[in-house]
Amino acid sequence: MAQRIGIDVGGTNVKIALVGDDGKIIYSNSIPTRAEMGYEYTINSMKEAIKDLLKETKLQASDIEGMGFGFPGQIDCQNGIVRLAPNIPGWVNVPIAKIMEGEFGIPTRVDNDVRTAALGELNYGAGVGCQNLVCITVGTGIGSGLVINGKLVRGASNAAGELGHIKLTMDGGPLCGCGDRGCLEAYASGPSIVAMAEDYIRGGKSTKYRELANPDITPYIVAVAAKEGDPVAKQIFRIMGEYIGMGLTSVINLLNPEKVIIGGGVAAAGDILFDPIKETIAKRAMTIQKEAVEIVPAQLGNTAGVIGASLLINS
Ligand SMILES: [Zn+2]
Repeated sequence: MAQRIGIDVGGTNVKIALVGDDGKIIYSNSIPTRAEMGYEYTINSMKEAIKDLLKETKLQASDIEGMGFGFPGQIDCQNGIVRLAPNIPGWVNVPIAKIMEGEFGIPTRVDNDVRTAALGELNYGAGVGCQNLVCITVGTGIGSGLVINGKLVRGASNAAGELGHIKLTMDGGPLCGCGDRGCLEAYASGPSIVAMAEDYIRGGKSTKYRELANPDITPYIVAVAAKEGDPVAKQIFRIMGEYIGMGLTSVINLLNPEKVIIGGGVAAAGDILFDPIKETIAKRAMTIQKEAVEIVPAQLGNTAGVIGASLLINS
């Protein structure tokens, strides 16, 4: 049985897993990223964690078919270089694949973490059997991995899939992290839920999430309040869902996917977010495209990244 290593690098933690041919995780571990210590520190911790994995599973490096890394940022996939990872300071032009191949002799690939999650869902999660799908994550930002004709889409410079920066307005709109205004992500993401929730409080609305806040309002608290029936919290998720539904309508019209898979921290809110997304698409997408598409939650949760990364060697 072919076994591969998948590594999902985040701003706080690095998840490491040994994944079997069937997509099952055989061994997993998590270590702190400690970006403030410099990228060499994180690389050394990852090397130690990989050595631990080999020791614990009684495998040699030669038993591993390949190793893959998912990073939140801009990746040069052809050369295995992390160009820039905004949430992991210090990771600029780091040739991670070469470094790891030099250490272990295991063929190594690198890609963007949203794309590795899409690869995981395509092969072993909600996207099994699909040829065309859009896998979006809604959290602090909105990202997506695209699969067309069964293949991951990377684009001319590995930057395809920036669904969060679809424009929803001609002029104005909230300022986005990309520097432009009116992007989907600036209307509908974790921080915009919090901003909207605070606006309602300033406007004098009495809400359940205000009581639940401890002391900060988080997307999770607003979701809890919405599920407990708080009308203001429900309204916030309805507006979020309508914005996401608008953005997805453009993507569905453009790509005609069989499935849109939605994951990420904010998406864990469930029906209070999915219902307005589905209603907006049903109302606004073109007939043929909307009849073909199913809107479903991601299945692999926070293991999609490591499972997908382990598959990079063959994709
Ligand atoms: Zn933007």
